Amino acid sequence: MAKNRSQLKIVVLGDSNVGKTSLLNRFVKSEFSQNYKATIGADFMSKEIIIDEKHISLQVWDTAGQERFQSLGATFYRGADACILVYDITSKNSFDSIISWKQEFLNQCGPRQPETFPFIVLGNKCDLEKDRVVSIAKSNQWAKDHELPLIETSAKDDVRIQDAFVEVSRMAMKRE
Ligand code: GDP
Ligand code: MG
Repeated sequence: MAKNRSQLKIVVLGDSNVGKTSLLNRFVKSEFSQNYKATIGADFMSKEIIIDEKHISLQVWDTAGQERFQSLGATFYRGADACILVYDITSKNSFDSIISWKQEFLNQCGPRQPETFPFIVLGNKCDLEKDRVVSIAKSNQWAKDHELPLIETSAKDDVRIQDAFVEVSRMAMKRE
């Protein structure tokens, strides 16, 4: 989808259980549930946001519980304008997977100018400070090293989710 259209496709990737579906539900429906099923009915959810007085329709694609590599079909990636990579601050493995997910996205989507493709990394479940294993110092240094924007979010407490979607949408709109 071209950047000057008022619709943007955003795909959300990351290990199972990091809170991808919860982030979407929070963002799109202002809901949170402790026990989401691994699957959702629809391939994507839509929400309109306003950036600089422009109405943008976001089409946000979530995995339907098939997070293992290779099992997401071409439709999932096709025409993506931005990608949100999610880990869980209480799971070191999920943090370590981020780079593989980014690479998987680039391999599968094959965007033009991959070096400037809009990615944002979300460290979700920041409400679980007592169980934190990925420190802010560590994730910030990592983000700097990889030149990726990183925000800590909580789908449970509604922390910085709107910001994250607006930020990545802005990046997608600015892209030439
Ligand atoms: P997905 O597999 O990545 O889609 O993850 P889900 O959205 O299904 O969430 C997995 C589990 O983590 C569920 O039990 C959610 O309720 C929980 N969860 C998701 N986001 C948060 C969060 O921000 N804070 C806390 N404490 N739990 C969360
Ligand atoms: Mg899910």
